[in-house]
Amino acid sequence: MPLSVPVTPDLLFDRLKHIKLGGATCLYTHEKCEELAPLVNQVLELKKEKEAVVLAHSYVNPELLLVADFVGDSYELSRKAQQTSAPTIVFAAVKFMAETAKILNPTKRVLVPGKMNGCSLADSITGEQVRALRKQYPDHTFVCYINTTAEVKAECDVCVTSSNVTRIIEAIPNQNIYFLPDKLMAKNVQNELQKKNIYKNIAWWDGTCYVHEDYDPDMIRYLRTQFQDLKVVSHPECHESVLAHSDYVGSTSQMIDYVNKTSSNAFFLLTECGLSSRLQLESPSKTFVGGCTMCRYMKSNTLQDLVRVLQVPDPEDDISLSSDICQRALKCIEEMFRYGK
Ligand code: SF4
Repeated sequence: MPLSVPVTPDLLFDRLKHIKLGGATCLYTHEKCEELAPLVNQVLELKKEKEAVVLAHSYVNPELLLVADFVGDSYELSRKAQQTSAPTIVFAAVKFMAETAKILNPTKRVLVPGKMNGCSLADSITGEQVRALRKQYPDHTFVCYINTTAEVKAECDVCVTSSNVTRIIEAIPNQNIYFLPDKLMAKNVQNELQKKNIYKNIAWWDGTCYVHEDYDPDMIRYLRTQFQDLKVVSHPECHESVLAHSDYVGSTSQMIDYVNKTSSNAFFLLTECGLSSRLQLESPSKTFVGGCTMCRYMKSNTLQDLVRVLQVPDPEDDISLSSDICQRALKCIEEMFRYGK
């Protein structure tokens, strides 16, 4: 639940002081909380006045999580966007996620506050490139990760998330799959299927998440020498060698479930460091170790941006998609729901 007005600097500091991972942007002094408190109150008041709901991805700056009506991963947030009766949705995340919310809610206004709202995966491929690939691979089923633009989803057959990708590719009757845009996830899925003696012909696009591809097994080996009983929890956008050294692999929501259910002295989460900050906020008694691997796109969302889009949004803050793109991208997402049943 978001905080309620009036939020004092003391209250804010009390909530945020446990966050220790991260660079200067994620370290909360009392002085910093004195600067943030008026902005927090402004966002909370504007949300009420404009009848807006704020959805925030776990990777954004922790102070934004305190004003959000719901915090989650891209799939959970899109589902929440479908359930809200609020006419305006402010999607504190990146643009492809806000587009997914718009595809699922074409009549609602969807605003994306961050100005640097790209994603190294989503930006690695265009709709035109998918059309060219379809000519090159005419007998393949095209599977796209949710981290794609609406234009790319509109050209694909089935959308997947990090939590259902292996299950859906296994369920697709076609042996020939083209997976895009994450080559590391494609390889990890292929490995998972082979463990079950399922051998599909999977071709893939050469995209990566620049945050997740940075992790390597040496960091895990080193931290295991420093922390007894360390639990290493990885996202499937990481390299296969990282997954091989992990105690658990899952989507961000599955990682959260694992941490909440596991008693351990320390956790190393190999994903954007905002997830560790979020869990530190929610479970101050748990210890999260490792450095901060920050997504510049997610972290570009600020409280000032939330105030701006709630007051007078710029035209580019307002997600607008043609009905043709919306309908074809929706079909691709609905195929995910059909296979996911
Ligand atoms: S963390 Fe990676 S996949 Fe997520 S928004 Fe940033 S660049 Fe994209």
